[in-house]
Amino acid sequence: MRARRAAFMRIAGCSAGLGLLSLVTGSPVAAAESDSPARAIVVDAGHGGIDGGACGAGIVEKTVTLDVAGRVAHALAADGWQVRMTREGDTDVSRLYESNLPTRHKRDLQNRLDFVRITRAVGVISIHVNSSTNSRDRGPLVFYDVHSEPGRQLAQGVQNALNGVAGSTQRAVGRRNLFLIRHAPCPAILVELGFLTNASDAARLKDPHYLQRAALAMADAASHALQMAAIPPPYQRHAEAVDWVKPSFGTFDKIRVQ
Ligand SMILES: [Zn+2]
Repeated sequence: MRARRAAFMRIAGCSAGLGLLSLVTGSPVAAAESDSPARAIVVDAGHGGIDGGACGAGIVEKTVTLDVAGRVAHALAADGWQVRMTREGDTDVSRLYESNLPTRHKRDLQNRLDFVRITRAVGVISIHVNSSTNSRDRGPLVFYDVHSEPGRQLAQGVQNALNGVAGSTQRAVGRRNLFLIRHAPCPAILVELGFLTNASDAARLKDPHYLQRAALAMADAASHALQMAAIPPPYQRHAEAVDWVKPSFGTFDKIRVQ
């Protein structure tokens, strides 16, 4: 997604030409629907398949998000959490579940949200790469739903951890217009790892050692925050969601998660 001070910009060719769409099959969906762990964290790799996300400086967002999501998932699993990834390959999440929603973008967001609900997750970490028309914009940014205090705590913990790795001083940012983290029935954050439009950030986004350090820092901070935060019992929260009505996209029509 584009997080701040930047107009929508999609570089032609970045999101297409990646071959036939492939249905997401196998372990992510099967795992989500066959068991519902009480301590699952959803790690959401942004974009995928036909949707490359932002690109530039030799970086394609969907590739970086999948790389880092895997590192975060591995670290969380090592810390004892059940981990569910919305995608484990270069797949199109808009085709994860059947949906009548009219656009691929809406189906993508809805499917990620449905995945969170089905897995009964106690936390969501959605991973993205930022871009801006201002090449001086740099550093990691973590977003949370402005009405969620557990979400804010999770976001600030992860922001602090990323600041430590990146040498930045940002604060987590509260928003109301990010579909997944707004509607997730548990603390949820959207992590922008850095700006591919900034030379320093771009170099880091291509450095596996930096990505590993960032992933470990995120996982440690998320694990700590989700253990420490006053999280409502997941089954209580999800019991309320049995008759869950899919949220309207009316106010989100102009939202582009990039
Ligand atoms: Zn994105």
